[in-house]
Amino acid sequence: MLTTLPWRSGMSGNLIIVLGDQLNPDVVLPPDFDARRDMLWMAESAVEARRVWSHKARLVLFISAMRHFRDQLRAERLPLIYAQSRDKSLEDLLDEQLANHRPQRVILTRPGDWHVLQALQNVVSRHNLVLEIREDAHFLCSLKDFTSWAEGRKQWRMEHFYRYMRRQTQTLINAVGEPYGGQWNFDQQNRRAFGRNGPGFIPRPVAVPPDELTQDVISYVNQEFSDHPGSLDAFDWPVNREQSIAALQDFIEHRLPVFGDFQDAMWTGQTWLFHSRLSAAMNLHLLAPQEVIRAAVKAYEEGHAPLASVEGFVRQILGWREFVRGLYWLKMPDWQEQNYFGHSRPLPDWYWTGETEMECLRDALDSTLRTGYAHHIQRLMVTGLFSLLLGVAPSEVEAWFHAIYVDAVSWVELPNTLGMSQFADGGALASKPYLASGAYIQRMSNACEHCRFNPKQRIGDDACPFTVLYWNFLVEQRLLLQSVPRFAMQLKNLDRISAQEMRQISLQAKSMRERIYSSTGPRRPDR
Ligand code: FAD
Ligand code: SF4
Repeated sequence: MLTTLPWRSGMSGNLIIVLGDQLNPDVVLPPDFDARRDMLWMAESAVEARRVWSHKARLVLFISAMRHFRDQLRAERLPLIYAQSRDKSLEDLLDEQLANHRPQRVILTRPGDWHVLQALQNVVSRHNLVLEIREDAHFLCSLKDFTSWAEGRKQWRMEHFYRYMRRQTQTLINAVGEPYGGQWNFDQQNRRAFGRNGPGFIPRPVAVPPDELTQDVISYVNQEFSDHPGSLDAFDWPVNREQSIAALQDFIEHRLPVFGDFQDAMWTGQTWLFHSRLSAAMNLHLLAPQEVIRAAVKAYEEGHAPLASVEGFVRQILGWREFVRGLYWLKMPDWQEQNYFGHSRPLPDWYWTGETEMECLRDALDSTLRTGYAHHIQRLMVTGLFSLLLGVAPSEVEAWFHAIYVDAVSWVELPNTLGMSQFADGGALASKPYLASGAYIQRMSNACEHCRFNPKQRIGDDACPFTVLYWNFLVEQRLLLQSVPRFAMQLKNLDRISAQEMRQISLQAKSMRERIYSSTGPRRPDR
C-alpha cells in the first residue's frame, strides 16, 4: 500500500473515492489534486459482489478491471489505498477509513447508482463531513445541461435530445449546421433482417485472452462465488485501457461498416453479429464516449464506413446512452417504484438456466449465460418482451437485468429495463411499449425455423407463447394501451379477432402460463 507522509502522520488532505466503474484518472482526479496531500481510495468488497446475484463474468470484469486500475495508479506513483474485504461492505470500509484517518474533504465523482450515492453520503455525514460530488466528465451531457434541456418540455423524446446533442457537439454536422446526408437519421436503412441465407461471414471480434491477473480473478470468483449464475469458460472482455482501445479499433475496422444494416437482426448461435461489444468498457470508463464517436465519424470521413451505419452507431451513444443517464438522475428514486401495467408475477426460474423450449429465448439466454452478453434486440424483443407479456413484476425483471449482463450499471440498466423494455413508467422514456407477437421474431431471426412452436399460431399445441401472450396482453391491458397514441394501429388489429377466438386465446394464455411456471431451476437466493 502506497501512502504519502501526511497520511502516515495523521495529517490529512482530501480523500478521493474511486468506484469500480470510474476507472479513468482524467475522470476521478480533481483538477486541484495534490499527490503530496490527497489520497485516492478504492474498495473491493465481496459483500458488494454479493449484493446483486451477478453473473460470474460481471464479477470478474469489475474485479479484474479494478485491480488493473489499481496497478496502473501505483505504477504512476499516485497515492492510493486499495481496501479489500470479504465481510465488510463498501460503507463499512469507508466508515473504517474515515474513523482511522479524518480527511479534510471527501470527494466523489457522481456514481452510476443512486443507492450508492445515498449510502456513501450517509457514511460521510456520520463523520460530520460533507461528501463533495464532482460531475462525471466521462459523459457528454452534464446533468445541468440535461435538466435545462428537459425543463419545460411536455415529453422527453430521445430523437429531440439526440438532435440537440448533435448540434451541441457538432457531430455529423456540416459547415452550415445541417446533418450529414441531409437527414438526422437513417433508421429506414438500418432495420434489415438477414434473409434466408443468414448473415454470411462475420468477422470474429479480436480475442482478449485473460492475462495472469484476470486468471487469478477467474479462480477467485469460481471459488468464492460458485453459486452465482453464468460461466467463465469464455471470459473474453477488455479489462484495461489498452485492451479496450484494441477492441474499439477492431470494431471500427471490421464490423462498423455493416453495423447499421443489421443492428436489429438476430441469428441463432451468433452472439456478436456486427455489434461493437464496447458497452462494458465504456461503462467502466475505460473508453470515453467521445473517442468512440470520433473513431466512427473518422471511419465515415475516410470512406471506410457508410453514413447510415455510422449515424446508427453514433445515435446509440450520443443519443440513447446520454439520454437514459440524464433521465435516470432526473427521475430517481421514484422511477424504480413504477409499475404502469400493475404486473406482479415472478420471473420464471429458467431465466437463470436457459432451459426452455422456446428457441429464441433459449438462444438469447444461452449467449447471456455463456458470455454475460446479449445484443440490444435480444434484450428488448426477446428476454425483455417475454417478461412483459407474461406480466412479471418490473422489479423482478430489473433485478435480473442488473445481475446478468456484464455492462449492467444502474444508470443505464434501470432506464432501459423499466422504461424502454417494461414501459413501467407509462411512457416517460419510450413513446410506446415495445410489444410484438412471434411474427416480429420470425421476421428478424431464424429462431422460429428451429422451434417447436409456430409464430403464426395463437391457438393449439403449437401456438407460439409470444403470439398467444401478445394478443392476450392487448385484451387485458386494453384500457391502458388506448391512452398511448402511437398504439392505436396495434389495437385496431385486435378488433379483427372474433369474441370466440379471444376467449380461446385467453384460456390458452392461462394454461401456457401454468406450464411456463411449472419448469424448475435455481432461483435467485433471497437476500
Ligand atoms: P452496440 O449495439 O454496438 O451499440 C453501441 C453502444 O451504444 C453500446 O455499447 C452502448 O454503449 C450504446 N447503447 C446502445 N443502445 C443503448 C441504450 N438503449 N441505452 C444506452 N446505451 C445504449 N446497456 C448497458 O450498457 N448496460 C445495461 O445494463 C443495459 N441494459 C439493458 C437492458 C435492456 C432491457 C435493454 C433493452 C437494453 C439494455 N442496454 C444496456 C442497452 C443495450 O442493449 C446495450 O448497451 C448493448 O446491447 C451493448 O452491446 P454493444 O456494446 O455491442 O452495443
Ligand atoms: Fe420464439 Fe415463438 Fe419463434 Fe419459437 S415460434 S422461436 S417461441 S417466436
